[in-house]
Amino acid sequence: MSGSVPAIRPEHLASIYRHAQATFPKECCGFILGASGDAPAQLVECENWQDKYHAVDPETFPRTAERAYMFGAKDTRRLADSFDGETPATIIYHSHPRVGAYFSEEDTRAALSAGWAVDYLVVDCQEDHVAGAVLFRREGQAFVEVARFPGERG
Ligand SMILES: [Zn+2]
Repeated sequence: MSGSVPAIRPEHLASIYRHAQATFPKECCGFILGASGDAPAQLVECENWQDKYHAVDPETFPRTAERAYMFGAKDTRRLADSFDGETPATIIYHSHPRVGAYFSEEDTRAALSAGWAVDYLVVDCQEDHVAGAVLFRREGQAFVEVARFPGERG
């Protein structure tokens, strides 16, 4: 993926931060569908299904929602279908409770395997506030920081 860094509307960033705080100490996840014509970008807040997969099959899904996220089937389909439509997803976001906004090995593995042409926003969510967020973009087989957003006190 190349080109300019997608702008995130301030109200979307505020909603993402609220989502991260609401699900703490679990990870939240969602995505932003791009703007097209007169249609503004749209934020889609998703449910983190990780705990459901973990409960059913803990061997395949050893981690809980405190350390991982997974979209449900419906959201995955909406995300996948968006790339054939007029408002393709531009950003996928998830939060990191307590551990900081870095792109983990598991984040890298999942993003490479999905292969979607999006940037990834990771939110640094602490117990009583959101400390900030970092936007990562694929470069070869790695993901590098392309933008950083300030946090806000909760
Ligand atoms: Zn992560």
